[in-house]
Amino acid sequence: MDESTTVDPMVIAAGLRKLRKRRWFLWSLITAYLPAIWTSLTLTHSDRTTGVLFGIWLILLVVAVGFVTTARCPRCGNLFHMHGVTPLYLRSCLHCQLHICADKKK
Ligand SMILES: [Zn+2]
Repeated sequence: MDESTTVDPMVIAAGLRKLRKRRWFLWSLITAYLPAIWTSLTLTHSDRTTGVLFGIWLILLVVAVGFVTTARCPRCGNLFHMHGVTPLYLRSCLHCQLHICADKKK
C-alpha cells in the first residue's frame, strides 16, 4: 500500500486498537516475569516447578513477540515494528511514522 493513499480513519483506528492490544499483552508478559518467578520460588521452593513456569512464560513470550512483530500498520500496510530484519518496538510506525495513539489525538 502506498503511504500517500488515503485510508479510512475508522480502519486506522481499528488497526491501531489491535496493535495496542498486542503491545499491551507483550509488555504485560515481560512485566509479569519477575513477580511470577519470585512468587513461584517463594510458594513452591521448587526449581523444577519454577522451571516449568519459566518454560510456559518463554513460550508465551515467543508467541507475543511473533504477534507484535507481524502486526501491520493500518495506514501504510508495512510491518509496524519491523524495518528490515530487526524489530524495534517504538510507538510509531517505522515506515510512515503513524503514532500508536494517532486515533486518540483527534
Ligand atoms: Zn505505517
